[in-house]
Amino acid sequence: MITDLSHGLFTRAQELIPGGVNSPVRAFKSVGGEPFFAHRAKGSYLFDVDGNRYIDYVGSWGPMVAGHAHPKVLEAVFNAAREGLSFGVPNPLEVTMAETLTRMVPSCEMVRMVNSGTEATLSAIRVARGATGRSRIVKFEGCYHGHGDSFLVKAGSGALTLGQPDSPGVPKALADLTLTLPYNDFDAATALFEQYGEEIAGLIIEPIAGNMNCILPRDGYLQHLRALCTQYGAVLIFDEVMTGFRVAPGGAQQVYGVTPDLTTFGKIIGGGMPVGAYGGRRDLMQQVAPAGPIYQAGTLSGNPVAMAAGLATLELVRQPGFHAELKAKTEMLCDGLEAAAKEAGVPVTTNRACGMFGLFFTDRKVHSFADATACDTAAFKRFFHGLLQRGVYFAPSAFEAGFLSTAHSELDIELTIEAARAAFREVRAG
Ligand code: PMP
Repeated sequence: MITDLSHGLFTRAQELIPGGVNSPVRAFKSVGGEPFFAHRAKGSYLFDVDGNRYIDYVGSWGPMVAGHAHPKVLEAVFNAAREGLSFGVPNPLEVTMAETLTRMVPSCEMVRMVNSGTEATLSAIRVARGATGRSRIVKFEGCYHGHGDSFLVKAGSGALTLGQPDSPGVPKALADLTLTLPYNDFDAATALFEQYGEEIAGLIIEPIAGNMNCILPRDGYLQHLRALCTQYGAVLIFDEVMTGFRVAPGGAQQVYGVTPDLTTFGKIIGGGMPVGAYGGRRDLMQQVAPAGPIYQAGTLSGNPVAMAAGLATLELVRQPGFHAELKAKTEMLCDGLEAAAKEAGVPVTTNRACGMFGLFFTDRKVHSFADATACDTAAFKRFFHGLLQRGVYFAPSAFEAGFLSTAHSELDIELTIEAARAAFREVRAG
């Protein structure tokens, strides 16, 4: 595979952009080698500047649940752009978006649009603190909620990949207010609330974790957290930036039947444009400025082009059978990967949640951050490059979930499994 043009761009980029990228995981640090530069994308495929084609299981890290450059989404964007790119006064699409989100996710009685998942989680925590008058927050080891100061404590994703769970620049006094818990540990959560319950403003969790690879909550775990938050008067925040509209039309909260007080969104609601949102109980959201005193704002929030892309994507997601198709494709891929690994004599296990999945190089089931970090990352590296050489792009880190779209065809999945068969053999050979 020739990647000369990507190499040239990466060389130039490294001079001027930290690490050559505008978001760390893109640099391939944890898998080695160099990233390829995208020229265009269509459906399930990414095409690089050298003309190589990849079956893409990253999907821009989640938004592309209906495939890249979907004609309906592009049309909506072109139509909106023709009318102007930003107004600085309210526009009708913001109202439609609020109506759409609150209808699809009933726990959200009101919503506020922002520009990224990070902004959504930062704002949600501010609301939790502002509304309760308390300072401490609780998060989970290996969960990632964007790069806000309060969240860069035992965070997943890029922070985990780089082995820097805590970032320089986060004041210790602030980090001290973030309490962390092991995911899926019932007793640890109970004990923490017994000790700090009265001081906890809110608890934030990925209801299905996607930033320490893909880890599902144990039966009753989210219910347990719901009960603790209710008992101690803490705000329960589900970070559905990744899971929202991907695992079900109403997100993970619909799948598990647990109602959070606040929810954060991103990715799919922007259809590939920079968008985030947070929403929840009316009495909490009414405290956000200008309705209430908790300040939060954004020059480009509710941007008409971004709203158009998000609304078009959500319309696709709402089509009957959308999630059933996504799930069937994910199951086909994961079953195939497991079978191919078994054939090659490589121990792997998978976790699946409708349109997202995790592949782990271990012979054990994976339920926690500790389980995920105990997997064979050297094997993952070899596997990643084995796939890449064969035109299949998995996330360049052992700690990221994989994403499918409805644009992935059965043939794409068969070709992926074929490539995986060869890559597993290379892993086995060492
Ligand atoms: N929360 C979760 C669960 C995420 O996966 C991410 C990003 N991967 C974020 C928050 C942050 O979103 P953004 O990168 O848009 O700031």
